[in-house]
Amino acid sequence: MDLTKVIRDVENFPKEGIVFKDITTLMQDGEAFKFTIDEFIKNLKDKNVDVIVGPEARGFLMGTPVAYGMGIGFVPVRKPGKLPHETESYEYDLEYGTDTLQMHKDAIKPGQRVAIVDDLLATGGTMEATAHLIEKLGGEVVSMQFLIELESLKGREKLSKYDVNSLLKY
Ligand code: IMP
Repeated sequence: MDLTKVIRDVENFPKEGIVFKDITTLMQDGEAFKFTIDEFIKNLKDKNVDVIVGPEARGFLMGTPVAYGMGIGFVPVRKPGKLPHETESYEYDLEYGTDTLQMHKDAIKPGQRVAIVDDLLATGGTMEATAHLIEKLGGEVVSMQFLIELESLKGREKLSKYDVNSLLKY
């Protein structure tokens, strides 16, 4: 199935000059959405994954159906102040300033095999921070699965020590 047909390019969003890959149109298409989730599950089925992690917010949309389909748990990664229980944080550099991601401290058990699922790989900053957070909690990142990879931004190089897979490359 050609998923490029159901992903919408939105020009000048969220800023002038950026072409945003809009995945809401893919999710509106039941056949395309099911195909996408099934592809992720196929890619992960032999990796002995214990838990799926998804970063806010589109990682929730892609990650939870994968976890459900595999019959394993899902753990959210969130911006500060959103998770109610004790959290672990990881601060990382952006082009201007820093950002922080959080997970519940007890969400990953030491030694658990974790797969991260997200909609899009750009610079890889979000994913690198998410992986560090999981590793801080004692988890092992066994795979990273993306719907879309923007190859020109070279996120894959930043994540070279991980198993990185994307369903679509632009
Ligand atoms: P990175 O940290 O630079 O790799 O950016 C990846 C994050 O930014 C992902 O969590 C995406 O949801 C979001 N993102 C960046 N560009 C786009 C886009 O064109 N469409 C949808 N999400 C995007």
